[in-house]
Amino acid sequence: MSNKFDTKKIHAGYVPEDHNYSATVPIYQNVAFDLDSTARTKKILAGELPGSYTYSRVANPTVDVFEKRINELDGGVGAVAVGSGMAAITDAVLNTAEGGGRIIAPLDIYGATLDEFRTLFPKFGIYTDFVENINNFDQVEKLIKPDTKAIYAESVSNPITNIADVEGLAKLAHSHNIPLIIDNTFPTPYLFNPIKHGADVVVYSSTKGINGHGNAVSGIVVDGGHFNWGQDKFPQFLEPEITLKQPGRKDTSFAAVCGKAAFIQRLRTKYLRLFGAVLSPFDAYLELLGLETISERISKEVATSLKLAHFLERNTHVEKVYHSGLLNTDQKDLVKKYFPRGIGTIFSFKLKGTQENVNKLLDSVKVFTYLPNVGDNRSLIVNPSDVTHREVPKDELTKENVTFNLLRLSIGLEDADDLVALGSSN
Ligand SMILES: *Cc1c(COP(=O)(O)O)cnc(C)c1O
Repeated sequence: MSNKFDTKKIHAGYVPEDHNYSATVPIYQNVAFDLDSTARTKKILAGELPGSYTYSRVANPTVDVFEKRINELDGGVGAVAVGSGMAAITDAVLNTAEGGGRIIAPLDIYGATLDEFRTLFPKFGIYTDFVENINNFDQVEKLIKPDTKAIYAESVSNPITNIADVEGLAKLAHSHNIPLIIDNTFPTPYLFNPIKHGADVVVYSSTKGINGHGNAVSGIVVDGGHFNWGQDKFPQFLEPEITLKQPGRKDTSFAAVCGKAAFIQRLRTKYLRLFGAVLSPFDAYLELLGLETISERISKEVATSLKLAHFLERNTHVEKVYHSGLLNTDQKDLVKKYFPRGIGTIFSFKLKGTQENVNKLLDSVKVFTYLPNVGDNRSLIVNPSDVTHREVPKDELTKENVTFNLLRLSIGLEDADDLVALGSSN
């Protein structure tokens, strides 16, 4: 019952007896499930046969194990896997603020997230108030308005690795009856569990460190189960819900019927089922396979990333290294408090010189691969200002240190000495 992380990452959420005693999780590559009889169908639809499947857009046994496993690793009350990290963010934010409202978020978030918050969510009536420093609680609190629906942040920001003070933000959010949503993609559940520090909803691009092998785009939302969604600020949880209607049941709202799991149940029923960004069973299988070695992969990659960061700090071609785990930044107390095993495998640095120098480095990397991804077993390099964050206006990028000469590294499992050779040529 109280298994530790490394046991859960192999076994949680899976019962071999329920799957012909298959030792590993089988891939249920089927769309639908035999209803068998009208009598059984009636029971399924009445919710009397929990754990029975009907159609793979709503639930699938392979995807289900991935959801349960991440949920247990993070300590939530439920999780929903989706087709990408962006789908996870979209579903979580819309499930929170649909119908209109405001979100508070820092500027230093993933490029596509920032683009979505700035240009797309407003078309759905959801506006974002941006802050430069999410840990400036006075500034954040001043932005909370009657229609503010959530605070959103990345636990470790992409690409500068700023750390969000999750406990402080959760306290502030809860004192105003709003939830805290954390994108925990960079640390993965191995290095940080936001729910244990007060976050209400956690989103992941499991494309990255959870998968670890660069072979499946995917995302997942985890519900901490502590937030009270049954309040007027979130009317979608109080209104009657057709799929929860049953003979003899009077109040059919998600808040009344699903209790602690209202958020994630609603996300599954309305957003997964109706917006339909599902994760395929095969990709869920790849996520589960990657997850089995997450601790071993990430602990080695954290060690190598620190070695490389120290090397770059001493390199005369480097202007500055952005790696909060180096403990020489004003974030060292947050790192010590939240990240005893390291902040992750991704960090950035600024190269001295011109665009030509940047191009020369990117064109001559040997072990590193130049591409827009992170959290792979292969070491990766990218220039965010032109690639991963290109949709962000230049003045905002500069404010967040994402200048033309900023290079983001994601450290893989290669030999550290071979990786250090990155900067010794040039
Ligand atoms: C990659 C990434 C995303 C988006 O994930 P996709 O799986 O590519 O849709 C969101 N947040 C962060 C922090 C990311 O690094």
